[in-house]
Amino acid sequence: MKIAIISRNPKLYSTRRMAEEIVAKGHEVHVIDPLLCYMTIASQRPTIHYKGEELTEFDAIIPRIGASITFYGTAVVRQFEMMNVYSINESVAISRSRDKLRSLQLLARKGIGLPVTGFAHSTKYTKDLITLVGGAPLVIKLLEGTQGIGVVLAETGKAAESVIEAFRGLKANILVQEFIKEAGGADLRCFVIGDKVVAAMKRQGGEGEFRSNLHRGGNASIAKLTPEERLTAVRAAKIMGLNVAGVDLLRSNHGPVIMEVNSSPGLEGIEKATAKNVAGMIIDFIEKQAKPGKTKTRGKG
Ligand code: ADP
Repeated sequence: MKIAIISRNPKLYSTRRMAEEIVAKGHEVHVIDPLLCYMTIASQRPTIHYKGEELTEFDAIIPRIGASITFYGTAVVRQFEMMNVYSINESVAISRSRDKLRSLQLLARKGIGLPVTGFAHSTKYTKDLITLVGGAPLVIKLLEGTQGIGVVLAETGKAAESVIEAFRGLKANILVQEFIKEAGGADLRCFVIGDKVVAAMKRQGGEGEFRSNLHRGGNASIAKLTPEERLTAVRAAKIMGLNVAGVDLLRSNHGPVIMEVNSSPGLEGIEKATAKNVAGMIIDFIEKQAKPGKTKTRGKG
């Protein structure tokens, strides 16, 4: 097979590992920087060009689109889909998972457990919003934040109001969320491929830290999931339409609740914590699934 990894940086651990596994399984790999792709949009024969050459005869692509380039990156993935190339995660699903509010709304509609969450455009009724999500302590999040930056725990109603007003004053989009205290500063990263959780790790925040992000000094270890946690993770990925997803869960008193469904989950943390060949399992999945015309949406919707 001829497989492209759509990634800005061939040196990243995840990109490198998948490239290695593609070669080890006897396939051809190309790492393609989406920002250097250019395209023609025509009804008969859409094309993608890269460094002066037309990209042809790919059997499958693995999109690894960073959050900062979602707009152009998903357009490149969509173009491959229009050319009938199999994408392990489709452009529509990637865009969907990048929009935190849209994702939470979709998951809620299907009855997936979530922390009670509120959002508002105006700060006029902040007090009421705080009451609606159950009052302090509560978590306030920047919608655009990653790696735990812009995730704040407000211990009192007054603190919550100040933080919300400060963020909104800076024109930042936020959501407010019930604080899941019983999670004890830990979360579960469930790595889903197809309809299975293939690896799972528990991330524990540093001393006195409620955020479990490894970038914030948390540490990771292999996790044993309950059947309910597995089912929740697999269902969440399916609802988003992702074949490969990193589903983050918190253990709450009312069962597993979803934090986030990530469409380009990193491989380094999970492979090191679980000693599993996750990259190899992604390529196995492509070998089974990739066929021309298998793309469900072909970029529509
Ligand atoms: P990011 O996408 O920036 O990592 P998250 O929403 O995943 O932001 O939050 C970062 C971390 O903060 C989570 O992994 C979790 O440990 C903690 N956290 C986030 N929301 C809550 C919450 N509602 N209750 C308890 N802990 C939370």
